[in-house]
Amino acid sequence: MKTAIGIDLGGTYIKYGLVNETGTLIKKGMLPTKAESGSRDVVIEQMSLAINDVWNENIEGIGIGTPGIVDNNGVVYESPNLPDWHNFNVREVFEKKFHKKVAVENDANSIAWGEYLFGAGKGTRTIVCLTLGTGLGGGVVINGKLLRGAIYSAAELGHMPVDYKGRKCGCGSQGCIEAYVGRDYIVRSAIRKIKRGQKTILTHMVNNLSEITPKLISEAYQKDDKLARQVWIEMATALGAFLAGMVNMLNPDRIILAGGIAQAGEILFDTVRKTIQERSMKVLSASVQVVPAGLGTDAGIISGAALVFQK
Ligand SMILES: [Zn+2]
Repeated sequence: MKTAIGIDLGGTYIKYGLVNETGTLIKKGMLPTKAESGSRDVVIEQMSLAINDVWNENIEGIGIGTPGIVDNNGVVYESPNLPDWHNFNVREVFEKKFHKKVAVENDANSIAWGEYLFGAGKGTRTIVCLTLGTGLGGGVVINGKLLRGAIYSAAELGHMPVDYKGRKCGCGSQGCIEAYVGRDYIVRSAIRKIKRGQKTILTHMVNNLSEITPKLISEAYQKDDKLARQVWIEMATALGAFLAGMVNMLNPDRIILAGGIAQAGEILFDTVRKTIQERSMKVLSASVQVVPAGLGTDAGIISGAALVFQK
């Protein structure tokens, strides 16, 4: 059976593994990225150690999911958390070193492809995959192909405007969907409500309001906390309205929600589904499914390898 090496490059850790063509993880490991060294060569050395750890001569290739905007040639244009990861041809470096096919993709696009090939998108043709975390990452597969755009990795879904006069976003624009569903914005929304005088058990769960996390808001919701429920409903309604637009544009078979914040559970999924039904074209929303991601904690590694199995 064919195998490939998958690399999930993060600002803190490199997660890596050997994966077969059915998406089964055969061997895995983790190394520090050493981004704090400030040296690109150090990070490349760490990635090479990772590759060598699971290397065998028979692999089909190496797939790398990296933060940042990547072009069709494997050049990373912009990645704020890695040293000198600008206009940097990641593909060329590793092809020269290992003499194998190397595929490089933005990490959110990579996850979308992995979910499509091996996870919750298996058996479909068109999916939208969102990774809910600090920001909102996204990827789109249309008719069995990852949407890449003209030159660069397209599908910067977090920065689709949902309100042209809306909140300021980290990208410099305003009203982006990320500014309504990103981690910090969820927390800020809870704090705003508390400061307005709304009662909540959250204030008993922390010593300081700055300690509030989406996870704690979920726990409060499980205990029937009204404020926590409101926070999730507002967040999920914004997300659902955004996704209604995606449904109208792409008519996807499935929408996949990945990432830590997707674990908020039923309140999130129910509200997103209901909002999509209310706000998109009836014929288009009738068939769409909204499901949790299927690849679990090793999604980044499996997805990296899945890039090699792209046709
Ligand atoms: Zn933005």
